Amino acid sequence: MKPRVFGVSRSYGDLQNIDIIENRSVQSKSGLPSRYQKGRFLGKGGFAKCYEVQDLETKETFAAKIVSKASVTKPRAHAKLRSEIAIHKELHHEKVVKFYEHFEDAEHVYIMLEVCPNRTLNEFMRRRPPKRLMEPEAIFYVYELISALQYLHRRHVIHRDLKLGNLFLDKNMRLKVGDFGLAAQLDFAGEKRRTVCGTPNYIAPEILEGKHGHSFEVDVWSLGVIIYTMVFGRPPFETADVKTTYKRIRMNQYSFPDSVRVSCQVKELISRILQTDPLKRPSLEEILVSSWVNASRLPPSMPDSVSMWSTPRG
Ligand code: ADP
Repeated sequence: MKPRVFGVSRSYGDLQNIDIIENRSVQSKSGLPSRYQKGRFLGKGGFAKCYEVQDLETKETFAAKIVSKASVTKPRAHAKLRSEIAIHKELHHEKVVKFYEHFEDAEHVYIMLEVCPNRTLNEFMRRRPPKRLMEPEAIFYVYELISALQYLHRRHVIHRDLKLGNLFLDKNMRLKVGDFGLAAQLDFAGEKRRTVCGTPNYIAPEILEGKHGHSFEVDVWSLGVIIYTMVFGRPPFETADVKTTYKRIRMNQYSFPDSVRVSCQVKELISRILQTDPLKRPSLEEILVSSWVNASRLPPSMPDSVSMWSTPRG
């Protein structure tokens, strides 16, 4: 089958095309332009494979997200990739995975990102007993995440797929929000979106309901799910099957397990955030001054229990 070459889409505003960078046309066996040396495999997502690569001229390292064009021939997948690039390339913030450039050849699209060698908070929690975060660690990361979300929301971007697996960790174990594949760029602050999207455990009830559209509050909901998962070690609505999880989300059915001792301040904050009515949820600024996040001085410093992990690991 002849690989599909992306055409100009009229539906994506300023995104004219996925550029073909002509001076990058000399290719190595990996498909990457020959100035890049492919290094270790970093991970695989729904569409992409990600490798650490080094620019042989500048010696800089990047995470190269490589998407096979054959895997994005369906209009939805194609639109998702274009939208991810269009939104992510305009974002410039310390707490957002840096987007360097993108280019393509006949078979692949390449997205060059800041490399996050310590993977994501999901893997960090899984590999370190007791597989949950201590509250000072959770507060530290929640503070970093809110800083990213304030930036995104100010720019009218809703992430819509916030979860521990999309919270990357750089070489110093600092948080970087990544994966903008489901993000939406609103034209104005009051605009509502209707597409059903997100990851089952973290999806907000108004997205499932789909009646009145959704907005920035879906990210606040996911933040509540993230806080719960950080301190209890598992997501609040998780069940063995997705339908039951969705039912629990719609009915706001979750509880705080007695087996894990946590502060009443964190439980109180989680309860305030995980409210079915999006307008009743606190704003990001209100969360920052909540008694849990603001228990000590702001910004919180990185706990030693986290910084000791900061050497890059394989
Ligand atoms: P997809 O859009 O196909 O779901 P992802 O964005 O989830 O792809 O990337 C696939 C995997 O590659 C991730 O789960 C992660 O393990 C790894 N990865 C992605 N971006 C980076 C990065 N900037 N640094 C390090 N690893 C990354």
